[in-house]
Amino acid sequence: MGIEVKIVEMTVDGQPKTCPDCAISMFSLDGRGIFDFFPAWGNCDSGHSWEDPLITVGDLKKIKAASTGRQRAEDDDVFEIEVGGAVLAGTLHPEVILDDLKRAGGIYWTRIIKPAARRRKNKAVRAITRPIRRTARNGVATVKAGALEAAWTVQAGGYEPDPDYTPEPINPCPACEGRGHHAIESRLHDTTRIRCAVCHGTGEID
Ligand SMILES: [Zn+2]
Ligand SMILES: [Zn+2]
Repeated sequence: MGIEVKIVEMTVDGQPKTCPDCAISMFSLDGRGIFDFFPAWGNCDSGHSWEDPLITVGDLKKIKAASTGRQRAEDDDVFEIEVGGAVLAGTLHPEVILDDLKRAGGIYWTRIIKPAARRRKNKAVRAITRPIRRTARNGVATVKAGALEAAWTVQAGGYEPDPDYTPEPINPCPACEGRGHHAIESRLHDTTRIRCAVCHGTGEID
């Protein structure tokens, strides 16, 4: 229970409101009371705590309701409310949104989250396909890997599928370059696929 508002910076009638002990602009306001007229409690990262003389639990609810939220990485979550004739305005601590992950310089998304998901997926795909390939030596492994890839993608919370992804060939067949087949131009059909005789269609040699 309770309500918490994390402030990056705020003003009361244009005057900065800060921690009364250390004057830091960043603090949180907690509303623990069951009644809206109970005072809010301030807490800063240095461990200072105070009963706020101006802001009540009800005001925290108003701030939450009035805050703009963020749609895009460059947005600030800002608010402006009136309390007893005074104007409280400020910026809330941003909650991470998907756009931040994708766009924070591309760092989070392309360097951290995507490779981590891909590594885990590749490991899982390899664990399944290796024993199958060793015993069956046919196209089944590829089909299973494809199904597993789809299942993994769904389970991983639907991160963006990587269009470049193919299960890692372990020892690609030199004759068909790991494809498992050769494409033959033909007059009857546009192209005909024939199974590679060197790797028996697995695309892989031991
Ligand atoms: Zn403080
Ligand atoms: Zn081959």
